[in-house]
Amino acid sequence: MKKILNITALSVGAMLFGQTQIIAHRGFWNADPKTAKNSIASLENAQKIKVYGSEFDVQMTKDGVLVVNHDEHINNVEIAETTYSELKSQKLSNGETIPTLESYLSTGKKDSSVKLIVELKPLKSEFRETEMVGKALQMIKGLKLENQVDYISFSLHICKELKKQDATVKVQYLKGELSPAEIKNLGIDGIDYHYSVFLEKHKDWLAQAKQLGLITNAWTVNDPAIYQQLKDLGVDFVTTDIPDQLLKK
Ligand code: MG
Repeated sequence: MKKILNITALSVGAMLFGQTQIIAHRGFWNADPKTAKNSIASLENAQKIKVYGSEFDVQMTKDGVLVVNHDEHINNVEIAETTYSELKSQKLSNGETIPTLESYLSTGKKDSSVKLIVELKPLKSEFRETEMVGKALQMIKGLKLENQVDYISFSLHICKELKKQDATVKVQYLKGELSPAEIKNLGIDGIDYHYSVFLEKHKDWLAQAKQLGLITNAWTVNDPAIYQQLKDLGVDFVTTDIPDQLLKK
């Protein structure tokens, strides 16, 4: 009898907490051999290890072309102040040319089992951010990738604008200063915060977020012990540079 009760408790626990899923941060670049962050090769590596999702960063050129790059600059060239035709010869450290969002998404589409976590980077004005949101939504819809994509951003304007332009998309806010209740009131779907927010600064926020039905995600978790702590607290996702190692935990 006791054994049956224990099994029931475990299944209820699993239902309440679900399974923590792994997201490769800027693709699985930290492979053997290593490749460039946010490269097409890093996305293909993520597909090979069958991770839940692969994250990447989106910037916009002066003439409104969406490209995948973490920094505002590539090789000292400022993306927002450069046209795509001037930018397209720029190379990543692995020799690839800077990927357009369209080419990146097309590679992602080849394996529908790996979610594409699109981080829209803050731009210089809300006007430009609104433009980027519109272009990203349109492209993803055009490629019929709506069900494979989630959005994240440090820009609150981008998060709000995504929901305003398409209420059906899933959006998580990255910055870490807004409480779960504030995020819920803004109509945003989740919080993707640095793990120290959940484990040190606001120890009650994970539970609050889950109670409010928000998606919970923690970045950038590169220590298996921290991963275990977050997993025990029932976080939905962790974003990591070591997806291969955490998948084995
Ligand atoms: Mg990112």
